[in-house]
Amino acid sequence: MTWYSSGNTNYELVTNLHSNGLITDDRVEKAMLQTDRGDFVLDRKFAYIDAPLDIGYSVTISAPHMHALALEMLKDKLRPGSKVLDVGSGSGYLTACFARMIHGSNGRVIGIEHIRELVDLSIQNIKKNGGHLLNDGTIKIMKGDGRLGYRRSAPYDVIHVGAASSQRPDELIRQLKEGGRLIVPVGNESEQNMMQYDKLANGTVLTTKHFNVLYVPLTDEQKQLNS
Ligand code: SAH
Repeated sequence: MTWYSSGNTNYELVTNLHSNGLITDDRVEKAMLQTDRGDFVLDRKFAYIDAPLDIGYSVTISAPHMHALALEMLKDKLRPGSKVLDVGSGSGYLTACFARMIHGSNGRVIGIEHIRELVDLSIQNIKKNGGHLLNDGTIKIMKGDGRLGYRRSAPYDVIHVGAASSQRPDELIRQLKEGGRLIVPVGNESEQNMMQYDKLANGTVLTTKHFNVLYVPLTDEQKQLNS
């Protein structure tokens, strides 16, 4: 899927993702049109290529088609007033898209990222065109180990994990609301599947295995800094 949807501007990129069937939902398209990828990458020259890009500290901003797929998988739960946890928020790109989809009725997005410099970078990125979302408290980015979730604001309607978990993330599943949805890549460095966990009204968990993916691992701060 990489490259096919590349464009010269954010508008072209998002329009190509739509023409190629990766975006089907108007609200997803609107959020991605409003969140200019050029504000979230280190070098604007490559911003609208449909590929992951280095953001330092051994990690990448995910490819636009992966952002689109994540938003599409979560769209039904991303409603004004929803509470969202974005684990491994990195550049802050998806955090900003989530915020645009849940804005209003006290909707909140918490990004949790373990590299201090990326926390600061993502806040600077979001300020470039979504400063109001920070100022009105819709978005909060915290430094922390996302494998533990963020209990203080739990439970969540949506939990998104932007890095691969080596095992089923039970603590994050615990922090889902009934009716809530978690998506997370699960696996090792050579084989991962995008997994979806839906907490049903009676508290049972429905597990769905989606496509193969390749994400950076959800890991220890020091291990990542030394890699
Ligand atoms: N959705 C982000 C993905 C960034 S890559 C984007 O597109 O920009 C994954 C991120 O997870 C990296 O920023 C990495 O630093 C972070 N990460 C890895 N392990 C983590 C952990 N244990 N706790 C919090 N963040 C973690």
